[in-house]
Amino acid sequence: MYQAVKSILMVDDDPDDVFLIREALNDISDEEYSVTIANDPLVALKILERKNFDLIMTDYRMGAYTGVDLIKQIRAKGLTTPVIFLTGVSQRELDEKALAAGASDYLSKSDIKGPLIDRSIRYAIANARRQELFSSVLCNVKAAICVIDTEGTPQIWNPEFLAIAKANSPLAEDAAIVADFSAHVEKTEQVDLVAQIKHEKQLTRLPDGRNVIMLYDVSEHLSALRERELAEEKAAHQAKTCFLTGLPNRLAFSEKLDKLIQNGCKFSLLNFDLDKFKTYNDVYGHPFGDALLKQVSDVLQQVCAEGDYIARIGGDEFTAIQMHDENDTHCDNLENRILAQFANELIVEGRKLNIEVSVGVASFPKHAQTAQELLSNSDIAMYRAKAKDGSKIEYYDCGLDEAVREQRRLTNDLQKALREDALDVFFQPQFDLKTGNLIGCEALARWIHPEDGPIRPDIFIQIAEDCGLIEELGKLVLRKACLLGSKWHEDIKVAVNISAVQVRHTDLVNDIQAILFQTGFPAGRLELEITETVLIEDFEHALHVLRGVKNLGVGLAMDDFGTGFSSLSSLISFPFDKLKIDRSFIMDMDKREQLKSVIRSCIGLGRNLNLRIVAEGVEQESHIDFLRSEGCDEIQGYFCGKPMPHPHFMEFMMNYASGRASAQDVLNMPGKVA
Ligand code: C2E
Ligand code: CA
Ligand code: CA
Repeated sequence: MYQAVKSILMVDDDPDDVFLIREALNDISDEEYSVTIANDPLVALKILERKNFDLIMTDYRMGAYTGVDLIKQIRAKGLTTPVIFLTGVSQRELDEKALAAGASDYLSKSDIKGPLIDRSIRYAIANARRQELFSSVLCNVKAAICVIDTEGTPQIWNPEFLAIAKANSPLAEDAAIVADFSAHVEKTEQVDLVAQIKHEKQLTRLPDGRNVIMLYDVSEHLSALRERELAEEKAAHQAKTCFLTGLPNRLAFSEKLDKLIQNGCKFSLLNFDLDKFKTYNDVYGHPFGDALLKQVSDVLQQVCAEGDYIARIGGDEFTAIQMHDENDTHCDNLENRILAQFANELIVEGRKLNIEVSVGVASFPKHAQTAQELLSNSDIAMYRAKAKDGSKIEYYDCGLDEAVREQRRLTNDLQKALREDALDVFFQPQFDLKTGNLIGCEALARWIHPEDGPIRPDIFIQIAEDCGLIEELGKLVLRKACLLGSKWHEDIKVAVNISAVQVRHTDLVNDIQAILFQTGFPAGRLELEITETVLIEDFEHALHVLRGVKNLGVGLAMDDFGTGFSSLSSLISFPFDKLKIDRSFIMDMDKREQLKSVIRSCIGLGRNLNLRIVAEGVEQESHIDFLRSEGCDEIQGYFCGKPMPHPHFMEFMMNYASGRASAQDVLNMPGKVA
């Protein structure tokens, strides 16, 4: 192995000593050591300014100067070069002084022999290198380190430890500062506070009983952690905030609700509906709708007192939570304040709006045990409020709201039934009273609820109208009726009921045209039955739609005639082909004589207007006799055939088809009422 030449600075004022050492070194090897001589400590210090040595050997006594003085100066220069002392006499006291001053070894001049000095030099250098390495580790490691002996006195510390200790101490001397600080750190748990920097403390007990204190600066780590926490908090906040209004959103709201319930708090849940929001949104566009929502949210926030909570949980759905007092009283009603506020006009983008608000209120735990139940109950109360005119508040009421709940259950189930195509169409035959021929049928929707069994059509039709399902339901019945009707051999008409809502809100003409096209059912065989309500609600629009229907070649019958309030003039304006006298008049004609007069005048009116007259609800032979004598054209009723499923109706048609049975046969057919 290549052995580097070791440079030695020899400081000695005695030439004999110098000679002696040289001789000793020469004994070992010429190449291994290069020796520079300084015969004066001051000269030595000068040389050291220019050059580094692997080792310094110094005489202990040089005039007034000692080796200890020299070593102090060397160290003061920051040099860690190992130093070996030489002295004339071996003296224990001197020896200790030398070591305390930082000398590596101490040699007596009388002992100086080649191998001994060689070993001492090599050991000193090797030790110094090890020491350097150790110091370097201590200085560069990212921790403040201090080793404390069993007496509690600090033995080694690194600059980092000293720096922290200094920042914390009023003392002057390093060792005292470190002693003071390390004692404090050993005891304290709150290393956080050390030097205003977050430190993590680790205390290691060495096998010999000494303690190593290590302090890690975790402030950077903590601030990165905090930054991440902040980012996460921000994201979480955004995820729980409505971007438009800045209010808590559905997620935040349901968390809040769950928490309140979990903590057994007593509070009221307010559910709002803005009655005309959808109209404004449709008429003035979405940006206007957004501006309106923003205004509404501002108004709500204005009326909020401390402790009240407002959230926007959907399009125009706002909710609020108001805590109850200790006696579980719902005092200082937020809902009243809100309503009072909305009594004022809102000005949105220059437009003055009167916003009507419906508020439903349900309380926890009085009205519900779960969040779901509470929401649903406040919703039910809100729907009851909505059914009234103007702005209003309704409170949940078990008894009252049972019906609403029932209605909602059916609504959901009906929606499902439509989705699953679970609705059926029945057909009820219609006969020509003069010829006795089967000339048509009325298609009637049927729904068998999976649990409740058959639901009356007037009930589920009303539900469909209320919740916007009627368009879908109407089209379904129309499509099924036309599709089935298109397969019949008989050339009979199919009458389909059309709700006033369909006339008002849907593109009825296009829908019918499309269905006729898809099913190949001839327009001339289709007839729509429409009630008078259509005429009352939006005369112009209804007229327009019904004319469109007529133009397709589809027939029009006025259903339930006599029960509504339509004026004669409107009846004349509309392109009807038929009047259907309401079944309530027919069914009870034998019980109340006046009903016969009503029927008589209906028939007369129809005849004068050139309309065909149909009587429905014909249940007895006596009805037929009367209707025939008054000149009624067509009849429909249980007496001639109940509404029946399609396969039965096919069979029915086979037996009673036009031309194959006389009026008398039809009307006297036993058992057909079943
Ligand atoms: P509507 O249009 O007046 O239908 C005639 C109703 O009278 C049917 O009741 C029919 O079963 C019943 N009826 C027929 N003959 C007699 C009889 O001799 N005696 C008695 N007591 N009743 C008789 P249904 O099927 O229960 O329908 C009730 C109402 O539901 C219908 O009255 C109609 O307004 C509505 N509806 C049924 N299907 C539809 C539909 O597909 N669309 C629309 N919009 N409404 C429908
Ligand atoms: Ca009808
Ligand atoms: Ca009717």
